[in-house]
Amino acid sequence: MNDVSDTRRIKELEVMVADVIVETPDTSTLVFFTGNDRLEYRAGHFLTIDPHQFEALERFTAFLEDLKGKRELPRAYSMCSAPHERYLAVTVKEEQYVSGSTKYPPLLSPMLVKRTVRGMRLTVTGFTGPYTLPDDIESQTDHIVHICAGSGSVPNFSMLKFALKHHPRLRHTFIYSNKTWDDVIFRDALTELPPELVLGPVANRINNDLQSYQLRARKDVTEAMDSQRYLTLLATLQSWRTDPPLNEPPSLKALTKRARRAERKADRRLAEAVETGDDALLHRARKAAKRARYAAELRLPVDKRAKATAKRYKQFQRVLGDHQDGVVASSTLRRLALSAGTTPGENGFTFGVLYEREQRAAETARTRVRELLG
Ligand SMILES: Cc1cc2nc3c(=O)[nH]c(=O)nc-3n(C[C@H](O)[C@H](O)[C@H](O)COP(=O)(O)OP(=O)(O)OC[C@H]3O[C@@H](n4cnc5c(N)ncnc54)[C@H](O)[C@@H]3O)c2cc1C
Repeated sequence: MNDVSDTRRIKELEVMVADVIVETPDTSTLVFFTGNDRLEYRAGHFLTIDPHQFEALERFTAFLEDLKGKRELPRAYSMCSAPHERYLAVTVKEEQYVSGSTKYPPLLSPMLVKRTVRGMRLTVTGFTGPYTLPDDIESQTDHIVHICAGSGSVPNFSMLKFALKHHPRLRHTFIYSNKTWDDVIFRDALTELPPELVLGPVANRINNDLQSYQLRARKDVTEAMDSQRYLTLLATLQSWRTDPPLNEPPSLKALTKRARRAERKADRRLAEAVETGDDALLHRARKAAKRARYAAELRLPVDKRAKATAKRYKQFQRVLGDHQDGVVASSTLRRLALSAGTTPGENGFTFGVLYEREQRAAETARTRVRELLG
């Protein structure tokens, strides 16, 4: 690997969080919008984040510094993005505190993984690190074997993307170990089933199928986020924070009128959806209820009566969210049952059992919506 220690490249950068992608329950990718700054880094480089910049961590940082008797250092995070990509991104795994075995609770990673939201601003310092591909890699080999575990795969992911673009003749083998039982989707449902109802490698099938689905979806999302349209949207939202596009402050009357319109639309859609029981209409009604809820919440600072309205639509949003989860999960399980059912050594039985549970959950949600509507 290369020994790159170009200190000229290291500088502080103000970034805005453009997206937070939840990878697993304890790992998130933070996508940073860096404005027009030209990013000079190599695949495999890392950046650092200083915990002192976060007001929310101030007391915790000071307490840990007292305990440890030294200043808390910036934490390093490898880029999972590649230099040719428009966005800078890091993937962070949350460290755990295990009573009796870990000396101190982790400082920064829990906040980065669980409490980072879009629009948040932070300062990162970068970029450096010796773990990069040599420029003459193609004269050294035609096959790279990446052996990684956990968040150690992050720089290799960047190198892989870089090499696919700039060294297309190289072959790659990626050997990766990470998945734990906690990461299995439908884990709770599977744990609750008696063992005699779990036939075949059900958890593996779920993980593998959904992971390949996720990779394809990720590609679509990345393309959308690389588009000029998305960049313009981010820039517009950023400017609206300080300079909202209003000729004059809205009156309570105008706000109320708009909010009422959203409520009427939500009521109409809810009634229609409950009457037909149609899944797509119920989903559409949920979106209308969500808009009515946000419109009511917007009114709250000037009209306390909006609180009850916001609460009512929030209930619809939650119950219809459960309904939509049941519908989507059922259709996924049906697809998994079809693949498993035609693969030697597997069968669709357990997927059928899980399907039935999801269908029941959706039905319970439908009943609850009828009750809420009165
Ligand atoms: C080059 C490099 C690249 C990295 N890339 C990534 C990446 O891509 N993704 C990623 O998730 N992580 C990466 N890391 C790890 C990352 O920098 C952090 O170490 C990690 O996020 C934990 O930080 P924390 O503040 O949450 O935990 P910390 O507060 O650092 O605590 C972590 C653990 O260390 C113990 N500990 C802390 N201080 C002491 C002490 N004084 N004495 C004894 N034990 C102590 C704690 O009890 C805890 O168990 C990278 C690290 C390096 C060096």
